[in-house]
Amino acid sequence: MDLGIKGKSALVCAGSKGLGKGCAFALAREGVSVTLVARGIEALEATAAEIRQQSGGQVKTVAADIVTPQGREAALAACPQPDILVNNAGGPPAGDFRQWDRDVWIKALDANMLTPIELIKRTVDGMIARKFGRIVNITSAAVKAPIPILGLSNGARTGLTGFVAGLSRQTVMHNVTINNILPGLFATDTMMSRIDAMAKQAGKAFDQVEQERLRTIPAGRFGTPEEFGQLCAYICSAQASYLTGQNFLIDGGAYPGTL
Ligand code: NAP
Repeated sequence: MDLGIKGKSALVCAGSKGLGKGCAFALAREGVSVTLVARGIEALEATAAEIRQQSGGQVKTVAADIVTPQGREAALAACPQPDILVNNAGGPPAGDFRQWDRDVWIKALDANMLTPIELIKRTVDGMIARKFGRIVNITSAAVKAPIPILGLSNGARTGLTGFVAGLSRQTVMHNVTINNILPGLFATDTMMSRIDAMAKQAGKAFDQVEQERLRTIPAGRFGTPEEFGQLCAYICSAQASYLTGQNFLIDGGAYPGTL
């Protein structure tokens, strides 16, 4: 299926590894020029080279922290008028809400709610003027089924979800859609280090905790960044212009509800 986005440009935040990288790859394979943002230059350049080699497409890199105003300026200077915006950043730490002061909350809100909103604010009117835009926010399955120790994530990401639920209904008439993808468990660095931390905390072996996690997934495996990216690419396709304000759970069946 030709997704009809050849020649478009995408700003992919937190795109050097994991889910963001999966999105960048899938978009580049469709002929989209991608601008990747991440803090660590080594992984960023390695990913850019890999994407260029496999897709033959144009890839720009911006070594910056997307959660800072300077980082966002640098990202938008490299890709001032994206047709596609993939909002992503690292997730907040786990813990007990009794230990979290205002600064901890503001950090989580900055990364997982206010940065995506700021980037939407800076790019959505250009998309509306050009009559094409696709905004995808990478959130978490925790938006649908909150994880008690991830209260910062539950709170910040749900705030973003509520905001875009309203905005997405105002932009769709201009062929600008805004949707969220909610990952369950995916085999990425972040997830592996989380399993490692859980194992150390419980005094268990890594493999044992990994198996425990796998047993919670009807698919019997972790998701891959590639399949996550392919869903993202479809949501960004020309064909997906009637999809907006939606929350796409991709979790191998882990969420047990009917709806
Ligand atoms: P990952 O494989 O560790 O990759 C994280 C990416 O984000 C890296 O490219 C990292 O590069 C970049 N990054 C982090 N903070 C950044 C910042 N402030 N500015 C720019 N780039 C930044 O992580 P992942 O598993 O793909 O996770 C992506 C998001 O999905 C996270 O918010 C995570 O909490 C959420 N999530 C993941 C899962 C899962 O199972 N994997 C499940 C639910 C939710 P640098 O460190 O070099 O900046």
